Amino acid sequence: MFGRFAPTPSGELHVGNLRTGLVAWLAARASGRGFLIRVEDIDQPRLPHAEAVAARQLDDLARLGLNHDGPIVWQSRRAAIYDQAMAKLRPHLYECFCSRKDIAEATRAPHGSTAIYPGTCRGLSEPEKAERRARRQPSWRIDARSAHMTITDAIHGSRTAPVDDFVVRRADGVWAYNFVVVVDDADQGVDQIVRGDDLLESAPRQAWLAKTLGYPPPTYLHVPLVLAPDGTRLAKRDGAIGLNELLAAGLTVGQILGRLGHSLGLAAPGESVTAATLAARFDPGALPRQPWLTDPVCWAGR
Ligand code: GLU
Repeated sequence: MFGRFAPTPSGELHVGNLRTGLVAWLAARASGRGFLIRVEDIDQPRLPHAEAVAARQLDDLARLGLNHDGPIVWQSRRAAIYDQAMAKLRPHLYECFCSRKDIAEATRAPHGSTAIYPGTCRGLSEPEKAERRARRQPSWRIDARSAHMTITDAIHGSRTAPVDDFVVRRADGVWAYNFVVVVDDADQGVDQIVRGDDLLESAPRQAWLAKTLGYPPPTYLHVPLVLAPDGTRLAKRDGAIGLNELLAAGLTVGQILGRLGHSLGLAAPGESVTAATLAARFDPGALPRQPWLTDPVCWAGR
């Protein structure tokens, strides 16, 4: 049994990412599980410096003392595993030729919300498909048959959501996050999923896919985000700073872990701690249910 942390190498880990990684490590260690780290670098076209960025992320996790078991897994090296899972799903998949604009128009989704795909390409005939293939590469969607799925989250409780025909493989050939994350977790023996609660809405469709592939259901813990004092997302200006900056400002690793631990109800104000000390105190039921509003720029004395 394993827990895991699965950062995308898109930039430096900021305080919010470090805190989520810490919770993932604590949840795994406090429950006697192994802890795995997976580099979610599947979207190579959009992650031009993935390897170098990931190396810095891994270094940050090591400096916090978040030790891991087994080798680091890189999604970009696992094509054979995704091909196999895709072959298993084949009877449920169909080609989709819709552009983002087509979908937005068909659903009239309010700006910024995730459009539920209305199944436009589900019933295309062979001649219709041939005609569309000549014009654009298809993505592959899974026919979810208007399913609904319920998950239970250790912080957010029970969540039910409709599962739409989501994309499994994009038109540019890249496997979709919602697909690879499910395949990876099952393949690696992960039964405890901890990540930021910006991904809570993705959990029901991932749980549905796991069930469809015959995988055992994992447990979920979606950690509330770290936000700026006014409740907006952390920007560089007001707190999206990383470990290097905090250390350069004179904070020690123990003090940084103490601040993160305090925000999780696991350390006293100003306490300096190790990750192991926090693991001994960890209680998932006592974790805060609200975002943590803070300004790490102030901690760093700037
Ligand atoms: N790669 C995602 C991130 O960096 C996390 C995905 C997951 O844990 O399922 O936010």
